[in-house]
Amino acid sequence: MIIRDVRVIPTFVGRRNQTIVRIDTDEGIFGLGESGLSARERAVAGAIEHFTPYLIGRDPMASGAIWQELYRSGYFEGGRVLTAAMSAIDIALHDIRGKALGVPVYQLLGGKHRDWIPLFATTAAPMGPRLIEDVRLLLDQGWNVIRTWFHAPEEDDALGRRIYEPRESIGKTAHWLTKLREAVGPDPVLGVDYHHRLTVAEAASFCQRMPHGTLDYLEEPIRDETPEAYEALRRMTDIPFAIGEEFASKWQFLPYIERGITQFARIDVSNVGGLTEAMKVAGWCEAHYIDLMPHNPLGPICTAATVHLAAAVPNHAWLEIRSSPTEELGFYDRDLFPVQCVQEGPRLHVPDRPGLGVEFDEERAASQSYQADVMRHLRRRDGSITNW
Ligand SMILES: [Mg+2]
Repeated sequence: MIIRDVRVIPTFVGRRNQTIVRIDTDEGIFGLGESGLSARERAVAGAIEHFTPYLIGRDPMASGAIWQELYRSGYFEGGRVLTAAMSAIDIALHDIRGKALGVPVYQLLGGKHRDWIPLFATTAAPMGPRLIEDVRLLLDQGWNVIRTWFHAPEEDDALGRRIYEPRESIGKTAHWLTKLREAVGPDPVLGVDYHHRLTVAEAASFCQRMPHGTLDYLEEPIRDETPEAYEALRRMTDIPFAIGEEFASKWQFLPYIERGITQFARIDVSNVGGLTEAMKVAGWCEAHYIDLMPHNPLGPICTAATVHLAAAVPNHAWLEIRSSPTEELGFYDRDLFPVQCVQEGPRLHVPDRPGLGVEFDEERAASQSYQADVMRHLRRRDGSITNW
């Protein structure tokens, strides 16, 4: 069997773009993958175009060697755009391998450790009474791992620019998370995603404004280019960190795992380099007693790939899902993806069909193509840029 064709299928689902990659073989078997570099989709499509001549004619069963060639051949190794493209290719090759052998992808990764995949829910309720109502609703419906979203007092200035002042968010967020913990007691797992909007000093102040035990994890309070900055913050708080959704290889995870900076790995299978790279990161995390808390803000293909990963590793905590009693973002469109993982409350079932277990309606996808950059750009009141 050899690879005959590689195609990028851009589509818009719910409220964001999804970059689907389809790889066809000469035997009629094809695989689907998804790339995770949101708001850089055209750059990823360009990278896949660069890679395609190296893929045509290759044996799709040799996905490990193909990974090495795409990453290392051609000089200028790695980087977010290349590994996001490689991720989609690698996932599609796993889909092909599973279909060719007649087994679900988790069987290629060592078999199942668990029968279903535990999920966490997100509430984007503003910091206030509705936050507590949302979390109680989730708890009543069996969700006991809940992620909240920081206070986001965004406003538009006179020039129509979206304004966000990071420091103004921390007092209100800490206040309402403290009230939330008081309201729901010690048992639920509570975290907050700060979407790397803070400095080290702001993040430290935020943590210090909450009583001990308020949060079970703090997701990405600061940017991650500098592990030493995170180490400085690590010394200022005892709240476990959940970091890694932007990491584009095992080498980016390296300092965070080996120096004890992160306590949960927010690995993104559509950005880190696909299942080939994700399994290596998972093993490395296992050696350091770190559980995976996979990042999964995309569609059914990324979800299915991550479900097979989570099924096949001993160290999985909770998978992100964007469908819960408090959130329905439309990412798992059943008309576009008529076959996909089945969710039952805070669990996803592990598919037993050959390959990933996802079917995709390409004709329908063609009618809902990319929308231009949908990520907001934020500024502070003085006009300077701040992180989205
Ligand atoms: Mg996040």
